[in-house]
Amino acid sequence: MSSTGDYEFLMRPVSCVKGITERRTAILGRCGVSSLWDALTFFPFRYEDYRRILRPDQLQADREAVCYGRVTNVKTELSPVKRKRITTVTIENAGSYAKGVWFNQPWMKDRFKEGGKVLFHGIPRFGGFGIQFSNPDVIYLEDDFHPDDFEGKRLPVYHSTEKSSRNGMRSLISSIVEEALPHFKEYIPQEMLREYALMDAGEAMRTLHFPGAKSDEELAKARRRLIVDEFFVLQFGILLTRRILQKENYEAHHLEPGGLIRRFLDILPFTLTESQLSVLTDIKKDMLSNHPMHRLLQGDVGCGKTVVAATAMLMAVESGYNAVLMAPTEILARQHFQTLSKWCEKLGVDVLLSLGGMKAKEKKAVKERMEQEKPFILIGTHSLLFLEDEIPNLGLLVIDEQHKFGVAQRAVLRENKRIPDTLVMTATPIPRSLAMTLYGHMDISVIKKPPEGRMPIKTYVVKPERLSKVWDFIRREVKEGRQAYVVYPRIDEKEKAESKAAAKMYEELKNNVFPDLSVGLVHGRLGKEEKDEAMESFRQGRTNVLVCTTVIEVGVDVPNASVMVIEDAQRFGLAQLHQLRGRIGRGRHASYCVLVDNTPLEKEDELYQPLLMTENQRLEVMARTNDGFEIAEADMEQRGPGEVFGEKQSGHPLLLLANPSRDKNELSVSTEIAKKVLSAYDLKKLDGEHLENLYTRIALRYGPEFKIPGF
Ligand code: ADP
Ligand code: MG
Repeated sequence: MSSTGDYEFLMRPVSCVKGITERRTAILGRCGVSSLWDALTFFPFRYEDYRRILRPDQLQADREAVCYGRVTNVKTELSPVKRKRITTVTIENAGSYAKGVWFNQPWMKDRFKEGGKVLFHGIPRFGGFGIQFSNPDVIYLEDDFHPDDFEGKRLPVYHSTEKSSRNGMRSLISSIVEEALPHFKEYIPQEMLREYALMDAGEAMRTLHFPGAKSDEELAKARRRLIVDEFFVLQFGILLTRRILQKENYEAHHLEPGGLIRRFLDILPFTLTESQLSVLTDIKKDMLSNHPMHRLLQGDVGCGKTVVAATAMLMAVESGYNAVLMAPTEILARQHFQTLSKWCEKLGVDVLLSLGGMKAKEKKAVKERMEQEKPFILIGTHSLLFLEDEIPNLGLLVIDEQHKFGVAQRAVLRENKRIPDTLVMTATPIPRSLAMTLYGHMDISVIKKPPEGRMPIKTYVVKPERLSKVWDFIRREVKEGRQAYVVYPRIDEKEKAESKAAAKMYEELKNNVFPDLSVGLVHGRLGKEEKDEAMESFRQGRTNVLVCTTVIEVGVDVPNASVMVIEDAQRFGLAQLHQLRGRIGRGRHASYCVLVDNTPLEKEDELYQPLLMTENQRLEVMARTNDGFEIAEADMEQRGPGEVFGEKQSGHPLLLLANPSRDKNELSVSTEIAKKVLSAYDLKKLDGEHLENLYTRIALRYGPEFKIPGF
């Protein structure tokens, strides 16, 4: 067993670094940075480039440049010739002057304050009054910016949830990173690095956080190394999982479904869809085979995964085994328990519930029942994983995984004496390339269609100027007896702002737009009673138009609602919009989703993060398709894999830099390297140092309980 010094060091809280006070620890915590490792992997989202900052007197006409100065004058005038409104901002540095000029953008005037420090980036020209940039990109600098400190360097910019200054955030992170860096070490042997032209991992990490005057190429190389790192860890985990699965420590002998399953299908109030049946065929084949099942079941919310899981569990029970269902939350566990109890009661099969918060007496009863021979179905949360050894005669493990990727893998990777058949369910449409990266050790089945033939939803993207037409349309639908949602989706943590926007719009719609209709309001800051009442009124059809925030995402089912208007749609991930849109189209009526695109004309960060598609093109994907997978794929191409899991996948996203749909080359390189490292390991060709570093890296991903077999 190797030493775990580096792992333990990197898991230390940031507060152990000198200068990281309680207040700073709290700031970092809100950005998801609690350990040294978190800080290391809190990558800058862009760089400010001060490698070539010029003074106005150093500018040359027609040569792209970045120019630094302090604002000395701001004015807007009407040009006499073409009656354009011209905004001119003059900056000064060491006695020389340059101007920035904007046409017909009077608001630019308010973006500058005299004495403020700015950078203009663009192509300057000589005009009547000296050198000027027309429409330059502007970077507004902090007051404590001194060009000399930055001259010749690139500076990382980190995301921050606070108003804390860029410089402040930068110095926080860099002091921690400085401390942590020596403990993140290369685990891939030299000759492999050379073969694939990869940089040293620690060096790459240093480059991203302290780029100095490094070139674009060097930065790209560092990024590439860390993309390979992210993929490697997942690929290596998959290889190990497969290896464990291949070891025949599996002895569930499930039988062909018989009378119990027939009776179950009889008592169900519906017949299974073709999609459900075909998935069940896959599952049955796996369960009857001599190898452990490891299958991922994908299907949108409401597709009917639960009944599939229930059928599989009853197959285990009929074969004399116990079955376990793990839900991500207690609420969902209770819900599953109710559904399954109702069905199983009539079949004479016992369903047990085990939750952390249960009374000792209840726990004891469950435990006693578990000791009896007669097979049962046990339902609980993911914490059951730690109980698993105590569950006798386990034949099938069903994991409702939702956003918590990795639970299933951990179930296998623990040193298990016996491996049950495992079925993992997820409601997130995961694009194929990502699924292969995350779930490469599993077979995949998809429930493609929800039960009843639901009406497709028509989606339109509109500019805010056309909202009055949209309101007319809502009025017509309401006349037909339908109902409508007007949504202000959540932006980051700004629930307060969101609620305010919704409340304001509610007043506007109620008083000025729909004075004749009944308009309701639901947002996160209402009391529970108020919220319930507003929802209930909408559910019963007394409210025609419901103005709301994303609180409606959770468990709302109003089949009569046929219109959804989503404000500021351009700000949201497509996967998220898809989830929201799933609230309509649940009844017998044609449904309509209107995405309001409020993209402003210019955006500060565009210079650094050019999107491949414009916001509008992104939204067009929504208009084109209702297919969750297609949307997820488009989303991932654009905004990376984190987007697929939505903002709720906060904390420790799996892939920070890597994007399987973009970084195909790195993905295949990582797969090759993972195989080679594993075989070098098998041949005992990894030297002690690399071995130790590898162990550290794997522990950072999967936890310290993770064991490389024989390690
Ligand atoms: P999921 O777990 O995939 O989100 P559920 O299993 O909760 O979906 O199913 C959603 C609803 O559809 C439930 O009320 C369920 O009883 C119902 N349902 C499932 N399968 C069918 C079917 N074949 N026909 C009609 N209704 C079904
Ligand atoms: Mg479900």
